[in-house]
Amino acid sequence: MDITDLGKRILAGERRALARGITLVESHRADHRARATDLLEWLGQHGRQALRIGLSGTPGVGKSTFIESFGMMLIGQGQRVAVLAVDPSSTRSGGSILGDKTRMDRLSREPAAFIRPSPSQTHLGGVARRSREAVALCEAAGFDVVLIETVGVGQSETVVAEMSDLFLLLLAPAGGDELQGVKRGIMEMADLILVNKADGDLKPAATRTCSDYAGALRLLRKRIQDPAGFPKAMMVSAMQESGLTEAWDEMRTLVGWRKENGHWNGRRSAQSRYWFNEDVRQALLARLQEDGVRAEMQRLGDLVASGEMTPSSAAREVLQAHLAR
Ligand code: GDP
Repeated sequence: MDITDLGKRILAGERRALARGITLVESHRADHRARATDLLEWLGQHGRQALRIGLSGTPGVGKSTFIESFGMMLIGQGQRVAVLAVDPSSTRSGGSILGDKTRMDRLSREPAAFIRPSPSQTHLGGVARRSREAVALCEAAGFDVVLIETVGVGQSETVVAEMSDLFLLLLAPAGGDELQGVKRGIMEMADLILVNKADGDLKPAATRTCSDYAGALRLLRKRIQDPAGFPKAMMVSAMQESGLTEAWDEMRTLVGWRKENGHWNGRRSAQSRYWFNEDVRQALLARLQEDGVRAEMQRLGDLVASGEMTPSSAAREVLQAHLAR
């Protein structure tokens, strides 16, 4: 199918066309990559904007359950919802199989929902670009909300936050009174912390955890893109579907405020710049992996190791010979 045709079908909201488009952006083949770039460029000016919501949490906190309940709630309100996953690890472990449709049973049967598992791949840079492009395709296909799920492993939160308008951190109630080793950097990215499983026996622990995090959030540096009271921590139960409309209300309040105050566009602009820089960086890193360059690095590395060349002159030689094209 030619790109214009595929693009038109995506704009018309055809799910199969969207799936094909995503397969194209996920492909490693050079000819596919070129077509994917053409497709994205062709779609460039459609002017649709979805609300992109990033969601992170360690395996078992209830991400799939939350996405299912939250997604169903949104659909109940007439929204179209796409779910994508960013999983940099090829070995999926710990019971969290991101995007596994069987874990989002109801949602996957909804005509207004589109669920796409993560492309399997080990290299985060590659996953990031593919996911970002998949988000753009979902947006072109007219989805109102795009949920981007990631398991809490190192850098993947940053990647997801950089493609989201809102970033949610899902936590489970803690047993003790310690913050659950959530890194400060991740806390700083969160717009909303949702303490899940606030039901049954876990309710008291959830209440404690929520107030601990609310306290911790108050200690963080105030961000320019937040109105008073944000970022905030609240309790939900994905299983009992409680707290979800309240969480959605908070998200809409935040989005409304950011739109009115220029921070919505500001954030998207900053993200575009970030991804431009990343693409250049990734392309240069890929260049370093080319056979000729690697052999040269090895040869010069030996000379540096034996003291025949200084590190900086060897580095300059590589840069001038190979990267200054
Ligand atoms: P994920 O690995 O983060 O996707 O977590 P899952 O959605 O697969 O949930 C992990 C486990 O927690 C499952 O056994 C769920 O049934 C359970 N769970 C998820 N949400 C809730 C909740 O709101 N309350 C309770 N009590 N259990 C939950």
